[in-house]
Amino acid sequence: MPGPAVILKELHRLRSHIAELDEKVTLAPNRVAVAQKKLAAQEDAFIQAKEYLKRLVLSIREKEGSVKATQTQLAKYEKQLDGAANKKEYDTLQAEIAQEKKHIAKLEDEILAAMGENEEKTAQLPEAEKISLKAHADFAQFEKDHQEKLERFAQEKTRALGELQATEATLPADIHVQYDRLLLAKGIDALSGVKGRICMACYTEITAQMLSELKRELTMLCKNCGRMLYLEA
Ligand SMILES: [Zn+2]
Repeated sequence: MPGPAVILKELHRLRSHIAELDEKVTLAPNRVAVAQKKLAAQEDAFIQAKEYLKRLVLSIREKEGSVKATQTQLAKYEKQLDGAANKKEYDTLQAEIAQEKKHIAKLEDEILAAMGENEEKTAQLPEAEKISLKAHADFAQFEKDHQEKLERFAQEKTRALGELQATEATLPADIHVQYDRLLLAKGIDALSGVKGRICMACYTEITAQMLSELKRELTMLCKNCGRMLYLEA
């Protein structure tokens, strides 16, 4: 049967392990939130690209409509030219016609530019879709792995708690009382290993006398941090 120092060492290992598992579970929602944010950003890029193209096509149609309307107006003015009553009316019509032609030319330039942009952005769309789909697949995989990890943590914790209980039961009664009291006050900080002559929790050196007592399996507390000490291998 192992001495109390060996038992305390194992208890410290188990308690630290359980605390680590608890921390991982506590941090888990953060990891999900980060992954969700990343997914949303990648999906949004594709949605925005599609929306932009929709608006671009709509603006092309609107401009084409304007060209048609302006051409109709232009034809009306040209017809009126023949019936102009005087030079002033004729000149006014000519000025209107020049204005409308300029307007059409400007619209046609804009349509051409928008069509070029439409072609270019449409060609980029499949890549954006690919990225979005991959983000989806990555997130699904992340969620699956994440869930498996949580289940594994839970199983590990159950196992560690069982071991902890069984190991605690092997503590000699007097040490058990001291251990329980410290545990209540300090939680995971109730125990510390000693390496060489250094308390591994507070890095204070213990006396040679304490070291020799530890070697004889006597339990004692660190004079600096108050933890129950055990010898590291
Ligand atoms: Zn200490």
